[in-house]
Amino acid sequence: MTTATQMFLSSKSLINNPNNSVAGIMSDVELTSCSAMSRSFLLKAETNSNITKSASWNKYNQDLEKFVCRVEDCPKMSWRSLVCSRCGRIVKQNIAKLTCLSPYCRDDECIKNRVRIAQAYFEALKIKSPNLLHIIFGFAYINRFTDEEKEKQARVFSLLEKEMERLGTPLHMVAVRDIKEIDLKPLTPLYVHYHTANLPVKDWRKFRQNLYRAREKIIKKSGVEFSFKFKHYRNQRGLFKYFAHRVAGVFGI
Ligand SMILES: [Zn+2]
Ligand SMILES: [Zn+2]
Repeated sequence: MTTATQMFLSSKSLINNPNNSVAGIMSDVELTSCSAMSRSFLLKAETNSNITKSASWNKYNQDLEKFVCRVEDCPKMSWRSLVCSRCGRIVKQNIAKLTCLSPYCRDDECIKNRVRIAQAYFEALKIKSPNLLHIIFGFAYINRFTDEEKEKQARVFSLLEKEMERLGTPLHMVAVRDIKEIDLKPLTPLYVHYHTANLPVKDWRKFRQNLYRAREKIIKKSGVEFSFKFKHYRNQRGLFKYFAHRVAGVFGI
């Protein structure tokens, strides 16, 4: 990471990565990582309802139906064994299970695969610093995470990257999107936030000051409110392990 780096990991981007070591059926439904349990019930509820009958809705409905089926079929998917390429004998049985890789899926093997894939992704970044600065960026509570919302947030990050560079304290970070569902806010329950791991900064006071300055300027310019919270330096391994679980849709860790 010699230049400012931002990677927005959704499970979708992980699944679509051809370098994944674990194959599985892909899902074309946009995937986010938090509150996967409740979201999967929501999906089912939507699939079963008959709100509108437009052509596009039907297409959406079919996709949802397919998606729900995949998640349900996940435990039945086959295991892969290690086979000798010369003689075809099984060297080691059931080393990995094929799974649906959806973050909504609660199957144990599927969760393990998702965590493994995410961890491999972070390892492949080959970041040398043993410690990274954990900063959380949060946006206003909403009731649906739409494409429009996603674009707004991406724009904030690109402005932030430019502004921090201009101020002489560039960001070098990896970001993972996380969505938390807050029951106490039934109308706008979704808190979309990003866990980011930043390379150590030389001048902490200046970096912090500039981040506050950049934030103010960007909120004025874009009209999009956001906040950030410093969570101290953390050991890279531990932090990426935490990130991998967020990406995989595993919570409470
Ligand atoms: Zn699964
Ligand atoms: Zn979070």
